[in-house]
Amino acid sequence: TTAPVSNFLRAIIDNDNAAGTYKRDGMPAVITRFPPEPNGYLHIGHAKSICLNFGLARDYNGVCHLRFDDTNPEKEDQEYVDTIMDSVKWLGFDWQASAQNGGGNHLYYASNYFDTFYAIAEYLINAGHAYVDSQSPEDMAANRGDFSRPGVNSPFRDRTASESLDLFRRMKAGEFADGAHILRAKIDMASPNMNMRDPAIYRIRHAHHHNTGDKWCIYPMYDYAHPLEDAIENITHSICTLEFQDHRPFYDWIIARAAEGGFFKQPVPRQYEFARLNLTYVVTSKRKLRQLVEQNIVSGWDDPRMPTIVGIRRRGYTPESIQLFCERIGVTRSDGWIDYSTLEGCLREDLDPKAPRATAVLRPLKLIIDNFPEGENISCSAPVHPHHPERGNREFTIGKELWIEQEDFMEEPVKGYFRLFPGNKVRLRYGYVVECTGCDKDENGNVIAVHCNYFADSKSGTEGSANYKVKGNIHWVNAADALEAEVRLYDRLFTDANPDAGGKDFMVLLNPNALEIVKAYVEPGMKDVTPDTRLQFERHGYFVADRVDSVVGKPVFNRVTTLKDSWGK
Ligand code: ATP
Ligand code: MG
Ligand code: MG
Repeated sequence: TTAPVSNFLRAIIDNDNAAGTYKRDGMPAVITRFPPEPNGYLHIGHAKSICLNFGLARDYNGVCHLRFDDTNPEKEDQEYVDTIMDSVKWLGFDWQASAQNGGGNHLYYASNYFDTFYAIAEYLINAGHAYVDSQSPEDMAANRGDFSRPGVNSPFRDRTASESLDLFRRMKAGEFADGAHILRAKIDMASPNMNMRDPAIYRIRHAHHHNTGDKWCIYPMYDYAHPLEDAIENITHSICTLEFQDHRPFYDWIIARAAEGGFFKQPVPRQYEFARLNLTYVVTSKRKLRQLVEQNIVSGWDDPRMPTIVGIRRRGYTPESIQLFCERIGVTRSDGWIDYSTLEGCLREDLDPKAPRATAVLRPLKLIIDNFPEGENISCSAPVHPHHPERGNREFTIGKELWIEQEDFMEEPVKGYFRLFPGNKVRLRYGYVVECTGCDKDENGNVIAVHCNYFADSKSGTEGSANYKVKGNIHWVNAADALEAEVRLYDRLFTDANPDAGGKDFMVLLNPNALEIVKAYVEPGMKDVTPDTRLQFERHGYFVADRVDSVVGKPVFNRVTTLKDSWGK
């Protein structure tokens, strides 16, 4: 492993470490967190945040918390909690006791802090920093003002602390309907930062919560809860995406007020923003991903075309390739687009040295070796990996009838075509040199079989083979021992590089060829392949045995990516 590349966050941490900012008894100097809301599946954008937060903790002997930001009773569900934990683990990170993460169990639920959030809210009311507002939602919105004009104070802003406290307690007791009152921080209705214009911090919601059940009918707002969660957990560097930059003044304000009230000690957490991941040809909005699932455009959250972690995992991406990708794209404060091919490049880089090689014929055409002895099948072998002879050989046979790729024959070759055409010689890789003699066609003129003769002394690995110099080298499987397999050829889900961009209807930009299913023939050893096995089909690309549908003896393969970047060329 190489030393991590520095970035602005590492520079900040280095400075804090040098200054001893977070020198606290018995606590690591770096505590980060990954705080998903359990309201959907994680996607490749979340992977960037996971690799960043867990990676910093790992590299600075710190700790990273997995925290479910579950303060919103609607839309949250145990199903999402489970899949998020699964995805974080699969990516190679661990919130549980591990040397990598400082020991201890670092799994947290924001909903476990509801009592503390509530106590802080009462403190804020008593200290004159919060009030219950009883304006209608319409009046509240109108009085908030906008960027061009200051807001107007609520007529309830100067109500006494005891009156606010009484109302707040009755809100909690369930005396009022949703929306009847709201608790607001008392800051500045004229602030140029809209987030500082007396933001709402508690609202009434008569709703069941997946963790706390029906205990609460008031719930804290995200902007109130999130900084307090960080402070409760002694987070040092709270890292979020750039759109939260304008929320930072309130982040600091609320923690400072709670610290004055004795709820937190210095040093308190600080927020830092980085640019979110935008990946070409991909949408990462939870709402849009849900639409793809609900309208059956894809087969589910784990469809191999989905940018969800469960989707890219099923597609065949490795955790190592995702980590490499996150490292390579780096962390900056300026928004930009990362080309999808960068992700594919990382997968190739990870799998090329690892993946065993195999042969698959994806669009089969019969090749008949007319001078081959009838009924005979001769053993052939090929390396499992070309650079690792110690990994041994794959065994298969060659016989009179083979399957080759349709595109490896042209009756009338184009210029520069070196594969099979009448009169031309090619090498059947790991087998013999053959000379094409012609083809059979059906009544519509479609080629249904190709004929050739072989040279018995040309077998690969024998002395005689050196006497044959041919330009074409094609792959094949023996019809007598090949295994039939379903192969799913996946491609980008959208035809447009920025399907998410403003104003575009992403649903009309779907790539109709994002999935092609072919009946392929694969070499006989593939009968033993277990689900999740990744390999390279020579000349085709990287494939994985589908973790859901593949079974031993009856494999189903997904194409992760082709060998070279061919998109848009
Ligand atoms: P929403 O707010 O619509 O529910 P979200 O994508 O923000 O969706 P969260 O569960 O709040 O979902 O995200 C968890 C963490 O992942 C946050 O810290 C967030 O900043 C980070 N994150 C989300 N999307 C990206 C992205 N595209 N690139 C980098 N980080 C991201
Ligand atoms: Mg969210
Ligand atoms: Mg969010």
